[in-house]
Amino acid sequence: MRARPQRPYIVGLTGGIGSGKSAAADHFESLGASVVDTDRIAHELTAPGGAAIGAIRSAFGAAMIASDGSLDRGAMRTLAFERPEARRQLESILHPMIGDESARRCSAAQGAYVILAVPLLIESGTYHERCDRICVVDCPEALQVTRVRARSALAEDQIRAIMAAQASRSQRLAAADDVIDNSGDLSALRAQVEHLHAAYVEAARTHATSCAPGGLAES
Ligand code: ADP
Repeated sequence: MRARPQRPYIVGLTGGIGSGKSAAADHFESLGASVVDTDRIAHELTAPGGAAIGAIRSAFGAAMIASDGSLDRGAMRTLAFERPEARRQLESILHPMIGDESARRCSAAQGAYVILAVPLLIESGTYHERCDRICVVDCPEALQVTRVRARSALAEDQIRAIMAAQASRSQRLAAADDVIDNSGDLSALRAQVEHLHAAYVEAARTHATSCAPGGLAES
């Protein structure tokens, strides 16, 4: 059996809230990519029995833990709004854990390549550095708002506040190697994902050759 390369080929997938990252990631996964999603990891860490719950309880007290043992997101949101340093403290607990766990999952991935889905990838040097390529899911801001409103109870001003705290559309596009234009319907999104998937499989194959013993990296 051929040895796997030291490091898999990693495509960072990002986009603003409601741009369609999850929809794109799901389709990449159905085609054979391994998806490592930092949002999903954050939810797991803060779910009942999650690895971050002990540290959160020690830092903020039992009032931040819901009766099922998960992080009480509503209480934490209120606290973080009132005390910005509480948000930073929560991030200082979660971010290193998310960074370690996502790195572990990337190394263990068995797919043709890894889609590393990170909402704040452009804003974060750490994740940016890990990626061989950056793929941005893009759509007009008005469409982001419409799509988020359709899927959640957030009000438009809350969605706009989240968008304002994220990188701008032009900053994301400037950092992109590849752009998925998600202003159309889901079949248009899927067609672009399929096109990119073929390119990423090919790039991962070249990457594997260059990482393999006797490959380009060692010549
Ligand atoms: P993100 O992960 O970037 O926040 P999602 O992938 O969850 O965004 O998409 C936001 C919402 O919009 C979801 O309900 C999703 O099903 C829907 N959606 C995404 N892309 C499209 C599209 N091209 N057409 C219609 N609905 C879409």
